[in-house]
Amino acid sequence: MLPGWSPTGDEDIIRRTVREFMEKTVSPIAARIDRENVVPEQILREAAEMGLFSLRVPERYGGPGLSMRETVVAVEEVSRVSSALGVMSAVSGSIAVFPLLAYASEDLGRRYLERLASGEIAAFALTEPCCGTDAAAISTRAERDGDEYVVSGEKVFITNAWYADFYIVAVRTGTPESRHRGVSLLVVDRSPCVEVEKLEMLGFRGSGTGIVRFNNCRVPAGNLIGEENTGFKKIMMTLNEGRVATAATGLGVMQAAFEEAVSYAKTRTSMGQPLIRHQMVQYLISEVARLVESTRTLIYTAAGLIDARSPMVPYYSSLAKLHAAESGVQAVRLAMQVLGGLGYSRESVLERLYRDIKMIEIGDGTNEAQRMVIARYLDRGIRPEWGRLEES
Ligand SMILES: Cc1cc2nc3c(=O)[nH]c(=O)nc-3n(C[C@H](O)[C@H](O)[C@H](O)COP(=O)(O)OP(=O)(O)OC[C@H]3O[C@@H](n4cnc5c(N)ncnc54)[C@H](O)[C@@H]3O)c2cc1C
Repeated sequence: MLPGWSPTGDEDIIRRTVREFMEKTVSPIAARIDRENVVPEQILREAAEMGLFSLRVPERYGGPGLSMRETVVAVEEVSRVSSALGVMSAVSGSIAVFPLLAYASEDLGRRYLERLASGEIAAFALTEPCCGTDAAAISTRAERDGDEYVVSGEKVFITNAWYADFYIVAVRTGTPESRHRGVSLLVVDRSPCVEVEKLEMLGFRGSGTGIVRFNNCRVPAGNLIGEENTGFKKIMMTLNEGRVATAATGLGVMQAAFEEAVSYAKTRTSMGQPLIRHQMVQYLISEVARLVESTRTLIYTAAGLIDARSPMVPYYSSLAKLHAAESGVQAVRLAMQVLGGLGYSRESVLERLYRDIKMIEIGDGTNEAQRMVIARYLDRGIRPEWGRLEES
């Protein structure tokens, strides 16, 4: 049976707890976070105390130990108020946790997962100026030198770059020609050899997205996640989970747009009637409702399949991400229409949501990349190893 959208008791408690924190603490400054492109330190501390940057870290390491379904509930609720904090928690609390939990040695995993549980922030650094979709072409090098690796190269568009205490970095340990067979995953601590430059992006502002330069950083060889040159499959498996977390950030943005449109349609009048009584506006808001609910159903289905370690995960996570992206852009556009000129003005939250939602069509694999995964599945069928974490 497919696990569709039906909140369990725990999910309900998580939703209410996170919503209360976000409404009380972050909502009053969400516009400022966007404007100034930074999350204040006090908010970072409180979010870390809430466990928002360590959502998937198991309780045995001191983390909240959330399932994937519970994680998407939390990420959706954070993103409903602040997309910046939402994507930060998706990356640090879910995407960066996955390889540490699934593939790192017990010692390495424990050390960094405990650090996340204690309030540190992680980033996942794959994309480079040369290449994003073509991840097998990355050129950031890690040269073995005794008991260390020397890391040099540049990553770009890295969420959390600005705030991160450590980075899970995709590095080339083989020759450039070896493509995916010469890629490894390495944990690199923030230190003076790591240079970070914050970027001015259209949306998700405040999420610390930036360029990360590794200037001959010396990293203990024990920080390698798994065996040398086996990183590519681990990255792909990480992105399966990451896509669902990223889709949940889009869902939070959509939900915020939906609520704003309905509330405005009930209070604004035209020709003697609230907007919501006009048929054209009824079309707009019912379309937004349809897009939000279908996105939520698909995301919770994909999250449930992750919890069940189903071989259908890559297919469903790409479907959920693609659907969240295309429905998200459409839903926020229609919601903005309900607000008329106000929706297009900086006075309205819709203007920010409209800028934010576009990112879901790009980050964690573009719409085109998702379509490639979906078509590959339809072409070749389910591969049983997709349900397992170990190497196939
Ligand atoms: C706000 C934001 C946050 C991000 N956070 C992170 C992060 O935390 N970590 C990280 O590693 N990356 C991150 N990214 C990077 C993101 O994952 C990449 O931008 C994305 O994968 C696309 O890569 P690219 O920008 O190099 O575009 P390209 O790969 O150059 O693609 C350009 C265009 O060509 C299309 N295209 C490329 N190759 C093909 C092909 N083979 N077939 C068909 N079409 C193709 C793409 O779909 C796209 O439309 C983030 C990006 C943004 C915008």
